[in-house]
Amino acid sequence: MAAPHADACAQSPTPVDTTKTDGYHLVVDALKLNGVSTIYGLVGIPVTDLARVAQASGVRFLGFRHESAAGHAAAAAGFLTGKPGMCLTVSGPGFLNGLVSLANATTNCFPMIQVAGSSDRSIIDLKRGDYEELDQFAIAQTLAKAAYRVDRAKDIGLGVARAIRTAMSGRPGGVYLDIPAAVLGEVLDADTGTRSLRQVVDPAPLQPPTPRSVDRAIALLAGAQRPLIVLGKGAAYARADAAIQRFVESTGIPFLPMSMAKGLLPDGHPQSAAAARSLALRDADVVMLIGARLNWLLNHGEAPHWNPDARFIQVDIDPTELDSNQAISAPLVGDISSVMDALNEHAGIGDVTAPQPWLQTLAARSSENTARMDAHLTAESAPGKPMGFYPALRVVRDVLANHPGIYLINEGANTLDYTRNVIGMPLPRHRLDSGTWGVMGIGLGYAIAAAVETGQPVVAIAGDSAFGFSGMEMETICRYGLPITVVVFNNGGIYKGDGVNPASADPSPTTLMRTARYDRVIEAFGGTGYFATTPVQLGAALSTALTLRRPALIDCVIDPADGTESGHLTALNPVGVEKP
Ligand code: ADP
Ligand code: MG
Repeated sequence: MAAPHADACAQSPTPVDTTKTDGYHLVVDALKLNGVSTIYGLVGIPVTDLARVAQASGVRFLGFRHESAAGHAAAAAGFLTGKPGMCLTVSGPGFLNGLVSLANATTNCFPMIQVAGSSDRSIIDLKRGDYEELDQFAIAQTLAKAAYRVDRAKDIGLGVARAIRTAMSGRPGGVYLDIPAAVLGEVLDADTGTRSLRQVVDPAPLQPPTPRSVDRAIALLAGAQRPLIVLGKGAAYARADAAIQRFVESTGIPFLPMSMAKGLLPDGHPQSAAAARSLALRDADVVMLIGARLNWLLNHGEAPHWNPDARFIQVDIDPTELDSNQAISAPLVGDISSVMDALNEHAGIGDVTAPQPWLQTLAARSSENTARMDAHLTAESAPGKPMGFYPALRVVRDVLANHPGIYLINEGANTLDYTRNVIGMPLPRHRLDSGTWGVMGIGLGYAIAAAVETGQPVVAIAGDSAFGFSGMEMETICRYGLPITVVVFNNGGIYKGDGVNPASADPSPTTLMRTARYDRVIEAFGGTGYFATTPVQLGAALSTALTLRRPALIDCVIDPADGTESGHLTALNPVGVEKP
């Protein structure tokens, strides 16, 4: 192996002596040895040279304007590639900004590693007041799947290997790796450094289920009158697409995709129960959860949303997930790929079917609901009135139908709810959204990672409020010339744009500028802005932007009165004595 720092650039602090290496080079060498090819981050003391060394060594570094967006990009990269996305931050405040994304990645079960430089422990621990002083390690432990700190340069290889295995194995999640400034600058004998590196073998080992657990699940399914499969983003992450499709199609059981599992089977699939969702949940007697949790997004499996007598089968890699909400009659602990293979090969699979009356009930409800939806989608807005969410989404849907390979990023409240329901996904892992936390601000970070990791065009559909959380990353998108089209659904507010403050001249808490022109934001950075006030203009702008494959932003003016407060989550707002 060549001396680890032979490729250093002029600005790096590398010693000229090729028999030596240092912490910066060891971090990059350890990442490269484990196949990491991209780092998302934001530099400053003490990690600037780490990014320089990475670039000089052929590892791509993408610089952001806010650590949270860089971290969200790393998290999305983790979901899209199945390998930990890397985020690099400075110490103190930069570390904290990144932590939102690390915690979000952990909640979403995305593999991610946040590496941060940190200040001098001997000063931090006695609270003597250092530059950006913060006990980062202790804080990260509480929010990530795990945290590790490297205290000697010769342990960098070990620290990186531990971080990679922890992020990827079992239930994936976010890992924090703390590297004090002094360790980055520590000089070491090059041979010792090279020998200290480790390549992780089989970082996410398959975990086949026990035969007994497979028997139990098959027996329960075989006796079901109204069976239902719920596919979650864990199923998308597992990349068991063919085995899942085989199981669904050979049994004939209707399925419901969670938002990020859309496309695992196409939304237009005849067994999709998405258009009869409420009925399917309320009436199913045996429910098989595949990589989906019975958390708030599924109303905890509780009545009246669910049949109180439903029995559950849960496929999950994490045994502690089982029984976290409803009792699980047939746990299938293992990785989804191995579990689906075991189910498909089970001798009793031929006895599992979906009874006709159940399928007919769902089909009838689906066509009713689809007709109702079509009426919304084709409704014309009154003359002089801005378009509503549905007519806007109808044209977006029609344009995207011609671009099946597109990656769709989606955040907002009403913008999220409506888009999820209207835009079908033909391919797996092509939709990323606010996820398990319902977090805002993921939009542009996720979009950047999707473009960088896949090389495909990306459309990010965001509410005007959601866009604001990461809007400055438009500069990042333009700086790297990424093929991302951002569509801002601009209704001039959080939830809605017609909020009133009866008490003073200040805008209401939910009010944003209705006259804001987000298309002009991208123009400041040399990208192309479009302004659309009608569905026809929106369709034309989106088609053009997708053909050009350049950074674009469409400000799409939406009726401020359309939508509802908190979107589909209105019931989560506590009700007090009086509402102004
Ligand atoms: P959704 O929000 O789409 O319902 P969740 O994020 O709530 O999905 O659930 C994903 C589940 O998938 C988690 O409980 C996680 O442990 C599980 N999971 C992730 N990857 C795998 C895998 N390879 N095999 C089995 N389970 C997995
Ligand atoms: Mg809005």
